[in-house]
Amino acid sequence: MSPRIALLGFSIECNRFAPIATEADFAYRCLLRGDAIVTDARSASPQALGEMPGFVTAMDATGPWQPRPLTLAMAEPNGPVDHAFFESLMEEWRIGLRALRGQVEGAFCVMHGAGLTTVLDDPEGAVQALVRAELGEIPFICTYDLHANVSDANVALNDAYVGYLTNPHMDMRARGEESAGLMRRLLKGERFVRAHRRLPIVAPTVSLLTAQGPYAEVINLGQERRAADTRIVNVSVMAGFAYGDTPFNGMCAIVTATHQGAADALTDELADAAWARRDRFVAKLTPLEEATERAMTSPTPLAFADVADNPGGGGRGNTMWLLEAFHRAGVQGAVFGVIHDPALVAEAKAVGVGGQFEARFNRAAEQDPFSRPFAAEAEVKALSDGHVTGRRGIFAGTAMQLGDTAWLRLGGIDVVVISQRTQCADPAFLEHLGIDVGAARCVVVKSRGHFRGGFDEFFQHEQIVEVDAPGLTSPILSRFDWTKLPRPVLPLDQDASR
Ligand SMILES: [Zn+2]
Repeated sequence: MSPRIALLGFSIECNRFAPIATEADFAYRCLLRGDAIVTDARSASPQALGEMPGFVTAMDATGPWQPRPLTLAMAEPNGPVDHAFFESLMEEWRIGLRALRGQVEGAFCVMHGAGLTTVLDDPEGAVQALVRAELGEIPFICTYDLHANVSDANVALNDAYVGYLTNPHMDMRARGEESAGLMRRLLKGERFVRAHRRLPIVAPTVSLLTAQGPYAEVINLGQERRAADTRIVNVSVMAGFAYGDTPFNGMCAIVTATHQGAADALTDELADAAWARRDRFVAKLTPLEEATERAMTSPTPLAFADVADNPGGGGRGNTMWLLEAFHRAGVQGAVFGVIHDPALVAEAKAVGVGGQFEARFNRAAEQDPFSRPFAAEAEVKALSDGHVTGRRGIFAGTAMQLGDTAWLRLGGIDVVVISQRTQCADPAFLEHLGIDVGAARCVVVKSRGHFRGGFDEFFQHEQIVEVDAPGLTSPILSRFDWTKLPRPVLPLDQDASR
């Protein structure tokens, strides 16, 4: 009989300091049930991020199997999830898993790993415990985002822990495919063990790129060791997500292997390698005044990242510090993408293409102390319904919904305003309105780093300026009132030790 595999997922990155995430936040991004999960995974432009499509299509390609899909819930990073909604998801999974007891040979679960609810610090651990409680000791594989905060339960309660290797996250689909390969091995009777080591390093987000830098070196070391030793099944070095503010924050190496001694030795080696580089996990940002000056005078095009207001980390995507400074200074040829302001888009739609009006940003009740008002004369250049298929980077091939969208021109600055909060990680978000990104003197993105994967054909690493402005995702970690981080921890406390 072909193996039957339970499919489920819970994926959201939660910023302790951001407003609560609700069912609606999942519904507009990806909340799929039953066969819709498999249909979506097999489609040309899925709603789901790449792990489930990668797993399903790789299982399809490697032999007979029977998917048993339950519920897949994914949302844009936000604040902690409304616990009542999470409980309703748990009840759905409980009912579905119980019906599959004795009826499946394996389970695959897509996780993020930096989830929170308004009650729980480790909802992923709760989901994994539920899968084990209902299905027992069958082969069970979980995928995790590179920004996962790793609890002991996240490692203990599965057979293989598969984390992303890249930041920007270009390997989501590859990790799903890898998981299918590991599932086939487990189904043939192989057994895996795991080891993990957590370090007192809560690295600023901007220090965690994987093309270069200290984090890249540790990840590459792990992959070299895996390639050289057949006992090593998977090596994941998880950076963690500072703003989750949990007791188990901290960079963590996890090794899945066929031999416990080999797993233990490699996690120790990776922890040593990360610790040896601890002084390099720091944020070096450009002050706003200097960024504005560079926007005025740079002979080459530049990309400015508003890293402290990254919707991909729970930011509201609507702070005005950069736009106000560039507008006041008279910057020409700049494109800002993408500002989240549904009320402003609705007014722009009423005014119509070609119309002039006073664009009042953040007129609605403030979502957080950083979402302050700003107003300027504007012309409506174009409008759209915001249905965009990602072209390049982490959203390539993914069906995205930006909601009603407007292209406004404020003096020499073009601004794209959207109605569904999303990180500006793909040039298609701007291009679908008719904007020529390649012709811009500078582009300003509400994104910490994933824009690098989408805008790399316009901007090299040296052309990217990470700007220091206030916000919910500031990499300057001393600006937050942490409540649960284990202390002392680097880079906040110089006396942190292993
Ligand atoms: Zn991530």
